[in-house]
Amino acid sequence: MKKWIAILTAAVLALSLFAGCTSSDSKGMTIEKGKLIMSTNAEFPPYEMTDDNGSYVGIDIEIAKAIADKLGLELVIDDMGFVAALEAAQQGSSDMVMAGVTVSPDRQAVMDFSDSYATGVQVVIVPEDSDITSPDDLEGKKIGTQLGTTGYIYASDTPGNGGYGEANVIGYNNGITAIQALQNGQVDCVIIDNAPAQEFVKTNKGLKILETEWLTEDYAIGFAKGNTELKDAVNKALAELIADGTVQKIIDKYITAE
Ligand code: GLN
Repeated sequence: MKKWIAILTAAVLALSLFAGCTSSDSKGMTIEKGKLIMSTNAEFPPYEMTDDNGSYVGIDIEIAKAIADKLGLELVIDDMGFVAALEAAQQGSSDMVMAGVTVSPDRQAVMDFSDSYATGVQVVIVPEDSDITSPDDLEGKKIGTQLGTTGYIYASDTPGNGGYGEANVIGYNNGITAIQALQNGQVDCVIIDNAPAQEFVKTNKGLKILETEWLTEDYAIGFAKGNTELKDAVNKALAELIADGTVQKIIDKYITAE
């Protein structure tokens, strides 16, 4: 019996020492000392994408950098699929996720969110000659979306809940693939966030965005549930960056008003 207690005590001690060395910085806020690891999906222009040199750029990247600077941390970008980026923050393999992430009740059940820093709008993209003129025309149409996004989740909901039914919605790995499916006639429209929609319509001929918006949402930064210390520190930095106009300046740099 005593022997077991001794072994157990040793094991607990070893584990806590291990955790102490590797899983917190001086303030105990982030996974790696001195670093702020942001998981993202750099296929969502102009919030996150790569430039011609392969560097990460975009609204989220610059806001994250400004937050990291304020906290005295080095920003590390971890690029992956959108769903993986959410899960990384949830499971604590990244410190936070920034990927044009919409705050939703389902997500709030599994992760914590910062205050909102931008508004997202879900829009409908159709071919220029489409007979779809408003979201009311979408019943029975094939709808392309990006897997795991609110566009996918809400569109595949039942008609009674404002959706169009799962059978009518196809989820693609990223927005660009959904746009290609639209151009190949595999879907009749794409529901996606307005900011990337504007970019996709600019770079792909023959498409337009319907004037009637589908949904308005809030973008925020996601954290593992209970990581209040980091969330509070980020919120404080974010509030300062909003108050002094930095956030708006970054948004204006990437999104020019029409
Ligand atoms: N705003 C949408 C969501 O959170 C899409 C985000 C994205 O594709 N990066 O689901």
